[in-house]
Amino acid sequence: MAIEIKNLEQLKSMRKAGLVVAETLKLIKEQAQIGMTTLDLNDLAITNLAKHGATSSFLGYHGFPAVICASVNEEVVHGIPNKRKLTSGDLLSIDFGAIIEGWHGDAAISFGLGDVDPADQKLMDVCEESLWRGIAAGKKGAKLTDISAAVEGYINSQGRYGILREYGGHGIGSAMHQEPHILNFGPAGNGPELTVGMALAIEPMITRGNAKTKVLGDDWTVVAHDSSNGAHFEHTYTIAPDGKVFVLTAEDGGAQKLGQLGVEISDLL
Ligand code: MG
Repeated sequence: MAIEIKNLEQLKSMRKAGLVVAETLKLIKEQAQIGMTTLDLNDLAITNLAKHGATSSFLGYHGFPAVICASVNEEVVHGIPNKRKLTSGDLLSIDFGAIIEGWHGDAAISFGLGDVDPADQKLMDVCEESLWRGIAAGKKGAKLTDISAAVEGYINSQGRYGILREYGGHGIGSAMHQEPHILNFGPAGNGPELTVGMALAIEPMITRGNAKTKVLGDDWTVVAHDSSNGAHFEHTYTIAPDGKVFVLTAEDGGAQKLGQLGVEISDLL
């Protein structure tokens, strides 16, 4: 299947969705507290979607029952919000998608509550930076797996982490999950050439142990097989009509983080 190419007008709709996603994730991180539940965080997201006239990319997706994925500690991705109270030291990964004017934005963050294990903090920092390295490698004219190699290369340079192999990034636009699938590992130089109008969600998922995972009995929650803690960061970005990248789900379009990596962002969005 071909990769969907968006025009500037469509990308502007994706930017609106991306800003709702950015604002909602920021809100969740600011308001999350010990003693709250991940269902409380889901409620925050529901309220913020409504405030912007946006709808959820996740609710009802293959039957998913919530608007966020909330994965705690050894849960790496796809956790279903529940009533368990959050405690000090918990590592949360929150994934969220929104639709505006039929166009999707998808992003994820990890953060700790209270007294965070420094090794968990490093896990999150490595995961987040690998995401930015991946986007920086995914410029116009690059090959798809240049992203994969950049993500993996950075993670492996920082220590021994398990990079999930069964899950990866994806094309995004008029649907949340589109072609191409984007691995977080493997050699550079393969796959389609990246061109103007593509929009991709890059989402490294790593653990402090090995990469092997299993899905819990709820048919959604992905946990590390060795019960080690996991982290997950994600952004939706595009290659704008001027040939420059722009991170649709980052408040500043990625200006700061990509600037540090020597990548200039588009000013069209
Ligand atoms: Mg995604």
